[in-house]
Formats: sequence, structure tokens, C-alpha cells
Amino acid sequence: MESVGRLAGGIAHDFNNLLTVINGYTEMILPEMEFGTIGRKWVEEVKEAGHRAATLTRQLLAFSRQQVLEPQVLDVNAATQNIAKFLRRLIGEDINLVLCLGAEVSKVHMDPGQLDQVIMNLGVNARDAMAEGGELTIETRDVVRKEPAGGAGNRLPPGRYVVLTVRDTGCGMTEEVQTRIFEPFFTTKEPGKGTGLGLATVYGIVNQSGGHIEVLSKSGQGTTLNIYLPGVEDEVSGLREPAPLRPEHLR
Ligand code: ADP
Repeated sequence: MESVGRLAGGIAHDFNNLLTVINGYTEMILPEMEFGTIGRKWVEEVKEAGHRAATLTRQLLAFSRQQVLEPQVLDVNAATQNIAKFLRRLIGEDINLVLCLGAEVSKVHMDPGQLDQVIMNLGVNARDAMAEGGELTIETRDVVRKEPAGGAGNRLPPGRYVVLTVRDTGCGMTEEVQTRIFEPFFTTKEPGKGTGLGLATVYGIVNQSGGHIEVLSKSGQGTTLNIYLPGVEDEVSGLREPAPLRPEHLR
């Protein structure tokens, strides 16, 4: 995974520099072209393809983590609320977005862009799993692990964690798909729709932050991803007991 990441990151970096030139000149050519001409239409298509390519290289760079990271003490609820604004636009009318944010959730220590990326990637996957509509729930809460637990949490040392849950009522995954979802470039989506880098990126970020991902999914019955992130001590109030959930329906 590390070497694929380095390779992908190296290519993406050089490719991105070339794309900046292509996209820059395309922006400069467009105003020179008359409206309604076939030439203008073609240049607009070049522009659109350039933007898609830029999105892909951004994802590759994010996956290879060749970004300058600035970890900070972050409020997961605030980040979730912020991303929810974008997600609502992305998921369309047929999917109901429900936020269920714990009233007092610990802070986490990570790069804000990376936290946004985790929430966004999971949200977009949930949307893609619900072609016929459904419900996307994002939940936050604190849990305290007193000793290393068995099962899915056994890689987590004892301590306080923020659990970010993203749940959908979509198509779910077969067991075979579940074993491969964190593999870079693994996708079941149509060509052009999936890069197979979303969950590989999430995996890298969560791992780097000392967290853990739990996947609960059944074909035809939806998917739940629980992201455990180590909580950091709040300087003002110190550690707190987990608080009850406060459902906040966005629509
Ligand atoms: P991509 O979204 O580009 O395919 P990801 O790494 O984000 O790449 O996801 C890999 C694969 O995992 C997806 O193609 C899909 O098969 C599966 N997957 C991820 N999230 C979900 C989900 N919420 N429901 C069903 N399948 C999912």
C-alpha cells in the first residue's frame, strides 16, 4: 500500500503540474472564442475533462498523503455539520440526510482537511449505494475502552474515542467485496464513476490518526462504517462522561 501510494503520488504530482498548464490555457482561450461555435464547444469539453482530471489527481495526492498536514485539535461535530451542507447538495432529493450528533463529543487531533475528506468520502459512497434513494445517517458519540476489546476493536488501545458513524440504507456489500474495499483502485463502480481510492484514503488517514474502522454491511441491507478516532483531552473541562445523542434532522 505504501509503495503504490508513493508511485501514485509521484505520478499525480507531475501530472498535476502539466494539468495546471492545460487548464490555465483553456481558461484563457475560452473568452477568445465566439459563443455558439463548434470550436467553443470543444474547448468547453476540454475544460470539463481537465477539471475531472484535476479531481482525480487531487484524490491520488490525498491517497498518497503528499500534502502538507497541519494537525489541530478539532471538533468532529462542527466538521460534520460543515460537510453536511455540501453533502445535501450532492445526494439529491431522494436521500434523507440525518445528523445525530452527540451533545458533548471529545475533540480529535488531526488535519482539518483530512477529517473533511473522511466524512465526504464516506458520504459520497453512501449516496452511490442508494441509487433508489434512502436514508444517510451520520452519528457521533464518545466511547471509553477500558481495556483492549476483542473483535473489531481489538487493535485499539484503552482510552477515549470519538466514534463517527456513517450509515446508509443502500445496496450493502457482499463478504467478498468487504474484504477488498480498502485496496487502492478496487472499485465496483462503472468506469469514470469510481477510482477505488476513497476508502483506501480513509484507511490511510484513520490509521495515521491512531484510529480504527469497523465495517458492518450485508448485501441488500445497507452499510454502517464506524470510524474510531482517539479523543484528545479538552483543556478546559478535561475528560467527560459520554453524553446522550441529540438527533438533529436536517430535512
Ligand atoms: P470508489 O467509491 O471510487 O469505488 P472506494 O474506495 O470509496 O472507491 O470504495 C470501494 C468500493 O467499496 C466501492 O466501489 C463499493 O463497491 C464499495 N463500497 C464502499 N462504500 C460502500 C457503501 N456505503 N455501500 C456499498 N458499497 C460500498
